[in-house]
Amino acid sequence: MKRFTEDSGAYEHWLADNQDQYVINAERSLNPNNLMLHRASCRTINGTPTRGTTWVGSYVKLVGTRAELETEHPTARACLWCL
Ligand SMILES: [Zn+2]
Repeated sequence: MKRFTEDSGAYEHWLADNQDQYVINAERSLNPNNLMLHRASCRTINGTPTRGTTWVGSYVKLVGTRAELETEHPTARACLWCL
């Protein structure tokens, strides 16, 4: 598992190389009540960010296999678009 907290470019790079893996979108505090699990290919976390100009900042991205992420963050909810 890997965590992207600052470098939006590095996250975009990872996404491009790992479309078969998974991403949790989390508040910087990792508030367990606000974790969303996505496929890396989900359109809501790809392309142009809807808010602001970077993907990471007030939110962080935890990435890895689905099993890894679900084990580490069992309260993560599945995205309605991609899962
Ligand atoms: Zn999604």
